[in-house]
Amino acid sequence: MSENMIRYERDDEGIVTLTMDDPNAGANTMNDTYKAAMDETINRLEAEREEITGVVLTSAKKTFFAGGNLTDLQSVTPETAGEFFEEIEGIKAQLRRLEQLGKPVVAAINGAALGGGLEIALATHHRIAVDDPKIKLGLPEVSLGLLPGGGGVTRLVRMLGIQEALMGWLLQGQQRNPAAAQEKGVIDQLVGTREELVPAAKAWIREHADDETAAVKPWDVKGHKIPGGTPSTPRFAANLPAFPANLRKTLKGAPTKSPRAIMSAAVEGSQVDFDTASRIESRYITELAAGRESTAMIQAFFFDMQAINSGRLRPEGVEKSTVGTVGILGAGMMGAGIAYSAATAGIDVVLKDVSLEGAQKGKGYSEKLLAKQVEKGRKTQAQADEILDRITPSADAQDLAGVDAVIEAVFEDYDLKKTVFSEVEAVVAPDVLLCSNTSTLPITSLQEFTSRPKDFIGLHFFSPVDKMKLVEIIRGEQTSDEATARAIDIVQQIRKIPIVVGDGRGFYTSRVFGTLILEGATALAEGVDPQFIERAATQAGFPAPPLAMLDEVSLTLTQHIRAEAEKAAAAEGTTLTRGPGEELIDTMVELGRKGRAAGAGMYDYPAEGPKVLWPQLRERWGTGAEVPFEDLQDRYLFIMALETAGCFEDGVLTDAVSANIGGIFGIGFPPHTGGPATFMTNYEGGLAGFVARANELADTYGERFRPSAWLTERAAKGTLVDVSA
Ligand code: NAD
Repeated sequence: MSENMIRYERDDEGIVTLTMDDPNAGANTMNDTYKAAMDETINRLEAEREEITGVVLTSAKKTFFAGGNLTDLQSVTPETAGEFFEEIEGIKAQLRRLEQLGKPVVAAINGAALGGGLEIALATHHRIAVDDPKIKLGLPEVSLGLLPGGGGVTRLVRMLGIQEALMGWLLQGQQRNPAAAQEKGVIDQLVGTREELVPAAKAWIREHADDETAAVKPWDVKGHKIPGGTPSTPRFAANLPAFPANLRKTLKGAPTKSPRAIMSAAVEGSQVDFDTASRIESRYITELAAGRESTAMIQAFFFDMQAINSGRLRPEGVEKSTVGTVGILGAGMMGAGIAYSAATAGIDVVLKDVSLEGAQKGKGYSEKLLAKQVEKGRKTQAQADEILDRITPSADAQDLAGVDAVIEAVFEDYDLKKTVFSEVEAVVAPDVLLCSNTSTLPITSLQEFTSRPKDFIGLHFFSPVDKMKLVEIIRGEQTSDEATARAIDIVQQIRKIPIVVGDGRGFYTSRVFGTLILEGATALAEGVDPQFIERAATQAGFPAPPLAMLDEVSLTLTQHIRAEAEKAAAAEGTTLTRGPGEELIDTMVELGRKGRAAGAGMYDYPAEGPKVLWPQLRERWGTGAEVPFEDLQDRYLFIMALETAGCFEDGVLTDAVSANIGGIFGIGFPPHTGGPATFMTNYEGGLAGFVARANELADTYGERFRPSAWLTERAAKGTLVDVSA
């Protein structure tokens, strides 16, 4: 089979065209078929070397090359690390032979070249790409907890210099289109169409037939110097002390191991010859691949996302649907944001509020966002106008007559929502999907008063809607599979990420998020230094720390949600215990410190300059109590993970994909953990190890960390979820 993966065609001028075309897959990846085919190909090139003028490397697929094989990468363990190292070295040796063939090799890049795909191209002597802004080139390994270990770090550092290679390309894994990549010196030449690619590559080879240097990489020439210098050159060394700070700024405090490994591979590799540098790079990728972080990140950002994109959360047997027009009820903060996102995705919107002025104000929000986009050159005025034209403000329910779906975002008031839905039901077609953006009202209770509860579903967007990618879809007791499938379709049409959860107080995301902010308040009440509380969270990888989040949510809303939970518990004949965290929040509210919107909370918000922690927090509650930094970080992660387990136990969650993706994209659970479900199962010692550590935390910090009997039983079985989506 291997001979089919790379077609070998030599023309009468001696130019060999290699066309990569995996017969068993839609895209080319670094699988066994590739490795065997590349080996054969290079043997043949070397054998026929004297008859060859040059080599063109291209692909018959839509993409040029998709990169490494993530299933293989995810399965590397400390025990198999040695084998993996050898394999990586084998793949790299092949590329090195191609690079040192002594004949010019040109990459004719017809489509996306990401990760291993771009690394193959970097091993050639000249890179030509189609000038299509949709084509993506880049090294996104960092987003999977890895590093470009196929020569990517070593070659890019030698081409661009350490700084330029690290920032953007290696540390942030930015993807660029061919024109932008050419500006950065990664692509050498552009052509207008795919058809022009191979002829242009052949033309370049012909032009350079007598130029021996065309087949030699700069780093294979004696005396080659890395652009911008290395740590041993004085100019570079002078900048080196600022590196860690820049790195932290670039990575916004995320504690992932891979950026550090990438930086080490780049800096260490810059001080030695190419082949030694390449081996250093292999050592680092092996270490990362065998570690827990990459396993978790590959799970979340590749396999979990793939499960969502391929429709595995979608009930089977329902035909895919699209909407032409949506009706949005309420043009406040959320309604206006949803209208913007829908219109941007090409959907017509009827944006209804009580008054036409109110609805127009909601449309004004889109105007503002679009004006900014035009100003930044991300959209043309014509594109912005087209999007705005899709939004029709209205104060008349009759205007909703033709919509395909309704998304309600009026005030959080049960009776108001009831009135609004009965008004809408009288106007819209009988099969229109009815969605509510409520953040706290149980979907089952709302659907009871509609005439067709099966078509009623929760669609929980996050604020600010234009930036937040997640939408939590909540099934009420009576919601049908068809409605669930249609809700997923709408969310995807709006280009957001859907997760599916069951009904319950706070659904999934708010319920779990509440435990994080309360844990921050609890630590404060214990006397822990507020700055320490915040820093522990940021350094654990949370995008925002708990006391700051408490201010964002507002202390009064937190109190209100708590009061509702207490009422519900009382109705069921139980009582919720109040902890020191809740009491501290009450005291703060009594002191008039209600949160950011009120101008004062855990932080002061001066008119000028950034917010600062309220100095009296330390004076009132600080006792100098010391909690080890790692314990505090574990408290945040565990309190959220344990609540996630509670959601599984209660049936609010049924799949690990929704738990992970909802945790990362909705409530900032640190991405390097792979999300709350993976955090539990990937913990050292597996789920049993997680349960053991939770018990330790419970012994030291309180019963809220005690795993439930259900979870303990699951840990004994070794699985969190029976059926994973
Ligand atoms: P908001 O106060 O900004 O907007 C509510 C809008 O509804 C107002 O413009 C009001 O005029 C309008 N409205 C009231 N009665 C109406 C009626 N009969 N017909 C049409 N419009 C009417 O509120 P918001 O923050 O946008 O929240 C809306 C909903 O979204 C609430 O259910 C809230 O719980 C939920 N939610 C809010 C957030 C958030 O972060 N703010 C996040 C997720 C969900």
